[in-house]
Amino acid sequence: AIDFKWIRDNKEAVAVNIKNRNSNANLELVLQLYDKMSHLQKEVEQLRGERNVVANKMKGKLEQSERMRLIEEGKNLKEALMTLEDDLVKLKDELHQEAQCIPNMTHPDVPIGGEDCSTVRKMVGSPREFGFLAKDHVQVGKELDLLDFDAAAEVSGSKFYYLKNEAVMLEMGLINWTLSEVMKRGFTPLTTPEIVRSSVVEKCGFQPRAENTQVYSIEGSDQCLIGTAEIPVGGIHMDSIIAESLLPLKYVAFSHCFRTEAGAAGTASRGLYRVHQFSKLEMFILCRPEESDSHHEELIKIEEDLFSSLGLHYKTLDMASEDLGAPAYRKFDVEAWMPGLGRYGEISSASNCTDYQSRRLGIRFRPSEPPTTNPKKSKGSLAPARFVHTLNATACAIPRMIVCLLENYQQEDGSVIIPEPLRPFMGGLELIAPK
Ligand code: AMP
Repeated sequence: AIDFKWIRDNKEAVAVNIKNRNSNANLELVLQLYDKMSHLQKEVEQLRGERNVVANKMKGKLEQSERMRLIEEGKNLKEALMTLEDDLVKLKDELHQEAQCIPNMTHPDVPIGGEDCSTVRKMVGSPREFGFLAKDHVQVGKELDLLDFDAAAEVSGSKFYYLKNEAVMLEMGLINWTLSEVMKRGFTPLTTPEIVRSSVVEKCGFQPRAENTQVYSIEGSDQCLIGTAEIPVGGIHMDSIIAESLLPLKYVAFSHCFRTEAGAAGTASRGLYRVHQFSKLEMFILCRPEESDSHHEELIKIEEDLFSSLGLHYKTLDMASEDLGAPAYRKFDVEAWMPGLGRYGEISSASNCTDYQSRRLGIRFRPSEPPTTNPKKSKGSLAPARFVHTLNATACAIPRMIVCLLENYQQEDGSVIIPEPLRPFMGGLELIAPK
């Protein structure tokens, strides 16, 4: 449940936040719609009450004329109620659509501004010096017979790809190595449905109905293809109350991800960098509100450990307010050096969404101890349920990781060295050599 009362009571702070995040949310309209809806809700309740009074009167012994009058009155009330209830449904939908655009509040340490204002939290390693002209992953992959974009363009369209030969082993190796590393840190593995209800997508803060949406909808149904496992994992505990003793819940989920990449024209997209379908392992945590900042640090640390183990040169960024998207309260991205492309590219993103998703998804927890200063008063009573905080973070997004590995580990003779941690997960393969 979105807390409209809180939004109204904190209207100024919400307006500043909308501005800081360069969001197109219309706060005035949301508040107007909310007032209209509250008013209509009261009218509906009043009419329902009147209808019940008439129905009760009808149960008693009545003169024929009085019975006829009550039947008529009941009919009129029913018709009026139907119209108002219809209006209420439409109004709720409109309010819901508009309110969806209101972004989460922002962590006080987040730099305010556009992309350029993001600050570097950490820099690891330095760009590899090549004694030869480094190729980009498209060329490396083509020469080693690892990638086929031409056939994929014929079969599916642009921004699709086939992986071949050792590139398939690399994908499987990356998945299994990352999974085992993250499971060692106490995360429960999941595979997820990849088609989900549009309503769940919306509750996670994505907008399948927006113009230029990133989400593929399935025509003739109320379902979408997922853009990230965050959506089905967030949905697992939808509309439930979790015992506090079970928190934090930590998942690592494998899924394919589907993105329209609408509006990506002009942005970096060569080869595997920006595609419509890719595999990803995603971490997801549900926790007590007081602990979400520390779990955010835990998630970024796991990402950094994984990327360091693979020997990548990367930087971690504290993302600026305009780059957070609607659900995140704070977001840390990792950008790795891609020598063939000659630039840093985002390989992961870790977000603390606080209660933005849990309010919409209805995920709460029951505190073990009632929060009261008077223990006598609370005897036998349950503490009120509170919304959990949710966090999500990329453990490994396969195509960009393949970009990094092919470009950073290429040799002058055209071969590619496999980083040591992956070798046991690739049947001991140490090198992808020209055929
Ligand atoms: P996001 O869920 O948008 O934060 O994306 C998570 C990670 O998935 C990014 O850091 C990228 O590594 C990867 N990614 C996102 N979009 C694409 C895409 N269209 N093609 C390939 N990888 C992507």
